[in-house]
Amino acid sequence: MSCLMVERCGTISLDSPDQNALCVRMQGDERVRGQAGLLSERRGSYPFIDFRLLNTTAPSGEIGTKKKVKRLLSFQRYFHASRLLRGIVPQASLHLLDEDYLGQARHMLSKVGTWNFDIFLFDRLTNGNSLVTLLCHLFNLHGLIHHFQLDMVKLHRFLVMIQEDYHSQNPYHNAVHAADVTQAMHCYLKEPKLAHYLTPLDIMLGLMAAAAHDVDHPGVNQPFLIKTKHHLASLYQNVSVLENHHWRSTIGMLRESGLLAHLPVEMIQDVEQQLGSLILATDINRQNEFLTRMKAHSDNRDLSLEDANHRHFILQIALKCADICNPCRVWEMSKQWSEKVCEEFYRQGDLEHRLHLEISPLCNQQKDSIPSIQIGFMSFIVEPLFVEWSRFTENTPLTITMMNNLRKNKGTWRGLLLKQHSNSEDNAAQTNEDKIRTSLEVDHS
Ligand SMILES: [Zn+2]
Repeated sequence: MSCLMVERCGTISLDSPDQNALCVRMQGDERVRGQAGLLSERRGSYPFIDFRLLNTTAPSGEIGTKKKVKRLLSFQRYFHASRLLRGIVPQASLHLLDEDYLGQARHMLSKVGTWNFDIFLFDRLTNGNSLVTLLCHLFNLHGLIHHFQLDMVKLHRFLVMIQEDYHSQNPYHNAVHAADVTQAMHCYLKEPKLAHYLTPLDIMLGLMAAAAHDVDHPGVNQPFLIKTKHHLASLYQNVSVLENHHWRSTIGMLRESGLLAHLPVEMIQDVEQQLGSLILATDINRQNEFLTRMKAHSDNRDLSLEDANHRHFILQIALKCADICNPCRVWEMSKQWSEKVCEEFYRQGDLEHRLHLEISPLCNQQKDSIPSIQIGFMSFIVEPLFVEWSRFTENTPLTITMMNNLRKNKGTWRGLLLKQHSNSEDNAAQTNEDKIRTSLEVDHS
């Protein structure tokens, strides 16, 4: 059965009332303690729900049953559940998709390893199912289903859970970003320096971590969660709050899906731990820690990819690169990502304004322009990491393409920033002229 067919059948069955996955997920806040003793998490992060609770909690501290339910579910799950309870059966829109679209999506998948892969187009062609479709295909392509004897239905169920727990209303941190990071990860896993040494377990971990690394992202950053006393901030004691949540939620879904239940316990524990280590590495606050170690390895030429620990470290670096590779894409795609991430920042700024909080850096639409945010991000975060990645891969065609795109895109943003400045100077001059003219007119009237 082709991946697209599997994906299609699964989506239809999810919409039927007897589908287990939906029922299991609606149970919400179940904390499942696995044999490893790790706590998994299936609790929602949507900030508005918590604000409503904070503002409407009765003096006794009692919260109404309806609100309790909301608190237990992420916004996505609450939305699906409430529609279902009101008897609204979701449209199985894939039924209506023209076979041409699936044909085009299938054609795109034949070029999934190319750097100019258009994930936005792919998402449209798969009717918003880019993450599930891409992952099914990549698991097949890398022989993971056969190697780990995975059950396709369970795999599909797990991927649908992951995809649906991304917030589609986030301009940036949504399932399309996850699909984009996974596609980039696939490209990096194919780099000759790395591909030669990777085991099927490394590949599965790399792809899973990429797909789930931002799951249930609330669209606001860690400082926002800390200053609003969000339950996740206290749960993780203000350390890698979002990343810990992404990891624990992933474990929750992995266990619910039963995808790996047939594997030895020690292996499941190892997968859960490594997924955590990979996802936690995407915390941008830990950038220097990883850069310093990567530089030291390159300077000392002591990376040995036969060593599982070294391979894991390179997977962490690869995931970090995949997560912030937007500026290394072709301009047309890179620009779209830049606009989306800035829109998410500005939304946080608006929310902070409404809540009478100090507006976070980069979140003030009046002061922080897209070009200035992007130039700073490229110079201080993206370039240093990709310079080290280039040293590691030894300038492969992909690395050269990415570095060229990065240089060109930065130049384009610089040009736009200059234009913006000259426009605002023109505007300022114009305003001054207007003021002078008005005052002269008043004087002469
Ligand atoms: Zn991300």
